[in-house]
Amino acid sequence: MNALVKYEAGPGHVELRDRPEPEPAANQVLLDVAHCGICGTDLHVYHDTFQNYPPVILGHEFAGTVVDTGSAVQGIRPGERFAVLGAAAVTCGTCPYCQRGEFMFCSARRGMGHGVDGAFAPYAVARPDQLYRVPDDVPMQTAALVEPLAAAVHAVGDIGRFQLGDVVLVSGPGPIGLLGLKLLAAQGIKTLVAGVSADALRLEKADAFGAARTIAVDQEDLAAVVDEETQGVGVDVAFECAGAEASVRNCLSAVRPLGRYVQVGHFGQDLTVPWDHIAFRQLRIDGSVGYTRETWDQTLRILEQGRLDLSDVITHTLPLSDWKTGFNLVEDQQAVKVVLTPEP
Ligand SMILES: [Zn+2]
Ligand SMILES: [Zn+2]
Repeated sequence: MNALVKYEAGPGHVELRDRPEPEPAANQVLLDVAHCGICGTDLHVYHDTFQNYPPVILGHEFAGTVVDTGSAVQGIRPGERFAVLGAAAVTCGTCPYCQRGEFMFCSARRGMGHGVDGAFAPYAVARPDQLYRVPDDVPMQTAALVEPLAAAVHAVGDIGRFQLGDVVLVSGPGPIGLLGLKLLAAQGIKTLVAGVSADALRLEKADAFGAARTIAVDQEDLAAVVDEETQGVGVDVAFECAGAEASVRNCLSAVRPLGRYVQVGHFGQDLTVPWDHIAFRQLRIDGSVGYTRETWDQTLRILEQGRLDLSDVITHTLPLSDWKTGFNLVEDQQAVKVVLTPEP
């Protein structure tokens, strides 16, 4: 089968290669991959700025249909459709984090798409505990959004506790920031979304997704907008989703005393930021990474209820052979979510 492979350590070293079709072990199922989204992590694996174990097939944001099951698998039949929790592909299962469903922090963890083979390929294998059933009326393209949506549900719902009537700042209009915006807007939260002028397309999307106001911080004074939108008080919660030093500064400056700052973006380097705000304004600082199993259950319930419109999140659907075009669109911030469709 034709799969997108990181074939060697170092920057680049990614291409379509012929790989044997995976065979499900006794406790695995074989899935026909419907769609697999391109994530920032895939770009990091491409540039070798995220730990990876070549040779490995990239891609972890996917949904597929069961075509075969291992001998020990019960209760799952060919034809059933699932979103797949690739991040839990390898865990110890017994450490305190695994036992609490917080498998993200298991020291033995390896995820699909960088630690073990992922889903930029026609077929992939997974264990039954990684499978989350796709509700009947949810299209497979939407099901491929479960992984990034779960990350947004975790950041906004599990970590960034807010109250009705709050004003929230989302800084960084990437897929997680924009999905977070959708969740906040669905709850009636007044949400400001900040980016830079290079994010024009994604800020336009933010307007369409229900942002109370979008701000390109290199064209407009964010502090003045926050003052205007909060009667000089400051925002109640800020989500830093850009992974950029200037964005951290903006968030720390925008949060009111006793407010909350949630770190979602990654930097890959140390920062110089106005850390004194934390003590002087007595801010609460939280990090958010990935999700828990409970978050996935919750995310599937959100999809099942059908009240969150996700039809406008995928801006590009490309065949797997056009992966480079897709990677470039994401790299150049010219897309919200790009999904790749493997060819037989
Ligand atoms: Zn992802
Ligand atoms: Zn563990």
